[in-house]
Amino acid sequence: MKIVLENLRKTFPNRNKKVREDVVAVDNFSFEIPDGELVGLLGPSGCGKSTTLNLICGLEKPTAGKIFFGDEEVTRLPPENRGVGMVFQNYALYPHLTVKQNILFPLQNLKGKDKLSKEEMEKRMTEAAGLVQIDELLERRPSELSGGQQQRVAIARALVKMPRVLLLDEPLSNLDARLRLQTREEIRKIQRATGITTVFVTHDQEEAMSISDRIVVMSRGVIQQIGKPQEVYDNPVNLFVAKFLGTPPINVFEGAVRGETVYIGEDAVLPAKGVPDQEIYLGIRPEGFLLQEDGPLHCSLGGVEVMGRDISIVCTHKCAPGTQIRAIIGAENAVDTACPTARFAVKPNKAFLFARDTEERIRPED
Ligand code: ADP
Ligand code: MG
Repeated sequence: MKIVLENLRKTFPNRNKKVREDVVAVDNFSFEIPDGELVGLLGPSGCGKSTTLNLICGLEKPTAGKIFFGDEEVTRLPPENRGVGMVFQNYALYPHLTVKQNILFPLQNLKGKDKLSKEEMEKRMTEAAGLVQIDELLERRPSELSGGQQQRVAIARALVKMPRVLLLDEPLSNLDARLRLQTREEIRKIQRATGITTVFVTHDQEEAMSISDRIVVMSRGVIQQIGKPQEVYDNPVNLFVAKFLGTPPINVFEGAVRGETVYIGEDAVLPAKGVPDQEIYLGIRPEGFLLQEDGPLHCSLGGVEVMGRDISIVCTHKCAPGTQIRAIIGAENAVDTACPTARFAVKPNKAFLFARDTEERIRPED
């Protein structure tokens, strides 16, 4: 089921009663989720991810804009008629019901023409439990399950109605690191197996990058960029997106373009053909440095961390005040730790220019 969001806007009365203006949770939000894709909605806390999800499932009504599932407009349709499955961060299972009863619950509430026979319900329950591999746990109560198992029950409960659309709001946040990795692989597998169009909300860029066909990066209720994870990482449209994706994060220098050349302090580090003279930010990915004896960028060497395959050179630069620069290079490189200065060349495809005022990307001519 394709999902189309058209100029969605959602405002809330301010929780702080002294402030008259409404809070704009989501603004001018348009995008299309192709049938069968898993889209990751990514952004910092408070940027409007949950609100967007609640608009798609119908728990919230938009202040303006439209929502379509396929060709059908669902903007005013109540949640129970939309055919969506929802999974939240805090599993929200019924504590007094067994796993089996929890999964059956949504089916028992179906009315009229949707009503199912006992056998049909049992069959669907068994299938959903099998998908998330909790067949062995059906007679237990939620308190007798680990966090990961509880979340699988919640996913089974969302799948049992055979939803047209699956919506997951930070479903892994309450799990420990190892379970988080494992469960995200499983969600991906289940999504592939069922082909259900899925929106996965997270503030964790690594999680979004690893699980999604496509990510939507949000800030303050506004879409910043949409694309395949690798495309967005390789080609950020602004400084916010560049900083939000990647671990370790991108290194940001205050610099300037003078005479079609990018300067960091006195160091002429890159050409910038066709770019007018101006103040800029230069973002360099950690893998964008080449250690070179005569490299143009002079950094003050802080230390070297060996990480097996790679080494991480930690340094500082007066044009990146208050931050540590991290350069990740192959372990075959020898770093002279006695020398106070590390010199680098910069890989042009790993370095991005941004206007100092708007923080929008500036693209030099090739
Ligand atoms: P996220 O899920 O990305 O953390 P939310 O969608 O929950 O963000 O919230 C977006 C913004 O809308 C925040 O500023 C939040 O405080 C505000 N907000 C969300 N729900 C309400 C509400 N019911 N009433 C008032 N403000 C709200
Ligand atoms: Mg949220």
